[in-house]
Amino acid sequence: MRSADDAARIFPYLRPGAEIVIVGGGLIGLEAAASATVRGCKVTVVEAGPRPMMRAVPAELSHEVRLFHESKDVRFVLGRQVSELEGDGRVRCVRLDDGTVLPCTAVVISVGVSPRTALAEAAGLEIDNGIAVDRFLRTSDPFIYAAGDACAFEQVSGPRMRLECWKNAEDQGTLAGRNMLGSDEAYVPLPWMWSDQFDRTMQIAGQAGGSAEDVRRRCPDGTLLIYHLDKDQMILGISGFGSIREVSRGVRMGQLLMERGIRPGRKALADPEFDLRPLAKAAVA
Ligand SMILES: Cc1cc2nc3c(=O)[nH]c(=O)nc-3n(C[C@H](O)[C@H](O)[C@H](O)COP(=O)(O)OP(=O)(O)OC[C@H]3O[C@@H](n4cnc5c(N)ncnc54)[C@H](O)[C@@H]3O)c2cc1C
Repeated sequence: MRSADDAARIFPYLRPGAEIVIVGGGLIGLEAAASATVRGCKVTVVEAGPRPMMRAVPAELSHEVRLFHESKDVRFVLGRQVSELEGDGRVRCVRLDDGTVLPCTAVVISVGVSPRTALAEAAGLEIDNGIAVDRFLRTSDPFIYAAGDACAFEQVSGPRMRLECWKNAEDQGTLAGRNMLGSDEAYVPLPWMWSDQFDRTMQIAGQAGGSAEDVRRRCPDGTLLIYHLDKDQMILGISGFGSIREVSRGVRMGQLLMERGIRPGRKALADPEFDLRPLAKAAVA
């Protein structure tokens, strides 16, 4: 599933009582699982990895999301791959690599997105897991720039990386435009992504992986916020899953504290009664 047309084609199959197998437990797979469940379908998600959303989401948050999906009767089959789709002109079941057969009325495949680089290849540009660009988003041809999901950019330190999220595409598009007009600005990603599943939202800002310590804050409405800290308790990233109000507020506050280099300390971060706003505001004043 990639486009609005794909979504429109899938929609008629999401009828009450339909048995839907979703192949791939990434963000798109879980959003599809939530939408199908809300429409009354019985949903099974098959994921090759040991947990859903392996690539994008820290383990603790993905566990929280999985429990929430299970509370809505979404079933997960983890650590298994699909070996065959069987049917008689229409798919009737999915066979897994351990021989398990999952009967179904439709299958949604949400795996295997890859950058569309045919045009860049035809133009002779360097390709490296996407259209290769330098820190200024310039391709191997200095008169051609690239931005968004399809481009793999040089980091200030570390290997080339490619991001697949809306904020990155917007920021890179703007920067590439400025650089094409003569500016000379390096791209420094400020990661932020969201995903809406059922009536909940998930957001991740900054760097959620590679932290020295993760501090949990459980809000009164059940929202979970996790602050990802380095060894000096500096905030590297924040992730959250729950109500749109608490997640948006908590993640925004985490971003402000991060940008301003404020270290509230693990006790304050963990306490849902502790108001972090004065700390961030005091730093501005
Ligand atoms: C189902 C789904 C759900 C998503 N949900 C989220 C979300 O909740 N949050 C989030 O942050 N991100 C989400 N994303 C990712 C987000 O949509 C992308 O990161 C973003 O759209 C990337 O923008 P882009 O301009 O780089 O690429 P695209 O939006 O893919 O646009 C590229 C366009 O270029 C066209 N194109 C390709 N090759 C050529 C060519 N040779 N000539 C002309 N046109 C061409 C394509 O047809 C396409 O229209 C989701 C993606 C999908 C598929």
